[in-house]
Amino acid sequence: MLRKTQARLFLGFLVCISIPAALGPIVYKYQLDRDALDLASKAVKQAQLEMQHAFQFTRDFINFGQRDVEFFKSGRSDYLLSIADSMEKSQAALAGLQSLGNADLHPAADEIVARLDEYGATVTRLTGLLRERGFSDYGVVGRMRSAVHSLERDVGAPGLLVHVLSLRRYEKDYIIRNRASYVDALMDRARTLEAELQSSAALSMEQRTGLILSLQDYLAAFRQLVSVDETTGIRSGAGLFGSLILQEDELTACFDRLQAALEGYDDAETRSLTNYLQAGIGLAAALSIILGLVLSRKLTGPLTVLSGRMQAYVESEFRDEANLDEIADRDDEVGQLARDFVSLQQAIKVYVSSIREMAYFDMLTGVASRAYLNQRLNEMISAATRRNEGLSLFFVDLDAFKDVNDSLGHDAGDQLLVEVAARLKAVARRSDFVARLGGDEFCMLLEGLSDEADIAVLADRCISNIEMPVTINGKTFKPQASIGISRFPLDGSDAEELMRAGDNAMYAAKTARHHRFEFFRKEMTQKAADRLMFAQEIRAAFRNEEFILFYQPQVDIGSGHVSGWEALVRWRHPSRGMVPPNDFVPEIERLGLINDLGSWVIREACRQMAAWKAQGLGDIRVSVNVAPRQLSDKTLFTTVSEALSAARIEPKRLGLEVTESGIQSTPDGREVLNQLKSLGVRVAIDDFGTGYSSLGSLKHLPIDCLKIDRSFIRDMVHDPEDAVLLGTIMALGHALECDIVAEGVEDVEQLQILQGLGCDTVQGFFFSKPVPSEEVPELARRNFMEHRSGKDKKTPTKKLAS
Ligand code: C2E
Ligand code: CA
Ligand code: CA
Repeated sequence: MLRKTQARLFLGFLVCISIPAALGPIVYKYQLDRDALDLASKAVKQAQLEMQHAFQFTRDFINFGQRDVEFFKSGRSDYLLSIADSMEKSQAALAGLQSLGNADLHPAADEIVARLDEYGATVTRLTGLLRERGFSDYGVVGRMRSAVHSLERDVGAPGLLVHVLSLRRYEKDYIIRNRASYVDALMDRARTLEAELQSSAALSMEQRTGLILSLQDYLAAFRQLVSVDETTGIRSGAGLFGSLILQEDELTACFDRLQAALEGYDDAETRSLTNYLQAGIGLAAALSIILGLVLSRKLTGPLTVLSGRMQAYVESEFRDEANLDEIADRDDEVGQLARDFVSLQQAIKVYVSSIREMAYFDMLTGVASRAYLNQRLNEMISAATRRNEGLSLFFVDLDAFKDVNDSLGHDAGDQLLVEVAARLKAVARRSDFVARLGGDEFCMLLEGLSDEADIAVLADRCISNIEMPVTINGKTFKPQASIGISRFPLDGSDAEELMRAGDNAMYAAKTARHHRFEFFRKEMTQKAADRLMFAQEIRAAFRNEEFILFYQPQVDIGSGHVSGWEALVRWRHPSRGMVPPNDFVPEIERLGLINDLGSWVIREACRQMAAWKAQGLGDIRVSVNVAPRQLSDKTLFTTVSEALSAARIEPKRLGLEVTESGIQSTPDGREVLNQLKSLGVRVAIDDFGTGYSSLGSLKHLPIDCLKIDRSFIRDMVHDPEDAVLLGTIMALGHALECDIVAEGVEDVEQLQILQGLGCDTVQGFFFSKPVPSEEVPELARRNFMEHRSGKDKKTPTKKLAS
């Protein structure tokens, strides 16, 4: 037989590929030149990346290296090795530029190499000093420890021992709070002790001299500690820390200059020639595509006509035969297909006239009948088996249909059935099949569908479509339905088994209280079923408005007044009661519904702010938590700006809390934040100090506030080194003009240390747990630093010890 269609397709294909194929080699030749330049810019990028690594390792060393006692003992640290390694790699990548022959690039590269050396030297100095400070038996602190131990051991008289213990207390206060006043106090006390040692009659001459020597030893070490702190800038964010940040900026600027020099070398002529050629290929490709489209249209045109006529034939319930003559006359494969259809029509004509009584369609609704469904289901099962595919069956049953019939009459019931059939058809895809089984039962067959999540989406869509309001006989109501789902081959191997499984599942859906579709569950593990149930419950929670916001005050440490509130979501579950966010937010994220929840939280917080204002509470500030996934949601910006303007809220009253890793995992996270900031809302970094934390990257982010994670506040009381690190974080935060909020403040000791460290704002159970919005007005008026009493039952308060 003449393979006409095949020949045409082959010819079209040849034309489509020949033009670009001919141009390709020419472009390739010119592309080689450009590649050399690309190689150079890759080398620069590589060097820059390695340098950023070195910065990161330096930050990590400053942040966490101080705590590493082993490091102080051995003087070795992986961080330092990593810094050196990254800097070497950066320099090696720059050396690659030398081979390029563009001599003008060398000075710019040399400058970077010199600055990298300078940076390395500063890091080494800082390392030395921090090592000297040491908290173990090595370093200044070690020396202080041993001097003070011999004082304690040998001083004897209790009157003198009191002074030694005071010295230790001032020293500890200094290490935790870093205030100059403790240095003065310690020196005063040392003078007193020395005078008393001189005049003590109970000590021999030899003992006196020994003790005074130990005391002087101790003081010398303490002074050295203070001077190390001044040089490193542990207290102020100035000193060596500051100079490192400056050097990083200079290095970054150097790289920008190098990049600019490199771009100058991008040869303009080569570029324009390559561009012309590329445009040529593009044009050729576009022409080929148009040609391809014209060819394929010529081919599919008659096929579309054929399919349209066959569909009309089926919809006429096989009464109006399709005229396929002009297509059947073609001498290609399409013509052959048309001729096959003509014979098929003849066969159907005979068949229909002999089993004629069988009704294919439901008279009332126009969808397929039960008989047709059975036939179709068998056919679909065979097809699915052949193609090794899945198939799903929805068994749909209206809820309370009897009530509609009883209260509005049978005509109304009929109208409802017609409407429901139409709504199901609206959800069905082209290949799906909708039938009415009788009464208020419908059935849907979904071809090729076996993934649970995909099926759930369709089932949910059916339910929400059916549940749209309908007006019949002047009465408007929302019809409801339950759906049972069975799947081939999982739940049954033939039509009968699948129908039964769907029916069973439908009954289960009817009896479940909070969701209205159910998968047939015999073969499922309990766990999968639970998860699915949870997903359905969450979908129902959205429908039934079961989410609610609680608010926790953030207290200004200076005035004692509430300066803002953090909104925290809860789920008012119909049977389990109040569910905390950690038990459902991750699941909502997994289901891909976090944007829905997040948008609701933003709108609700704005609405609540407006409501409080209407109650005369003034301009209350609220911050909401923004999940990482929301940052890549294209509608976040619109959601925030619309929520603000709908509630007429000044943008600066709304805060968004994001985690650092959230920003980092979003491709253009910093851009997104900049956009949001342009609205005027405030941005806070949440959970700072956990996971991947870096002070270095902070200075590049547009943030107003730093929330220090609870774990830090918890540990700081028992770990003076944590307090020192916290001091550094706060100093740097302030240098970047950020407010510092400490989270999870639970007792008065923590509050006092935070006061000493210069923290601005505190949040935690010590002041109040998160409360429902009704309790906010009372707390908003309170002064948390004065009126703390143990009688208030709503907030777990303790007396503020003085
Ligand atoms: P988070 O943002 O770190 O919120 C602070 C959590 O610490 C809250 O828990 C709060 O009740 C709790 N907390 C506050 N003060 C103290 C304290 O002194 N001691 C202790 N032990 N805990 C304290 P909650 O409300 O259970 O929220 C947990 C997490 O769920 C939040 O951590 C946040 O990551 C997430 N979350 C809450 N609401 C939302 C929301 O609307 N959207 C998103 N995406 N996540 C939310
Ligand atoms: Ca938060
Ligand atoms: Ca937090």
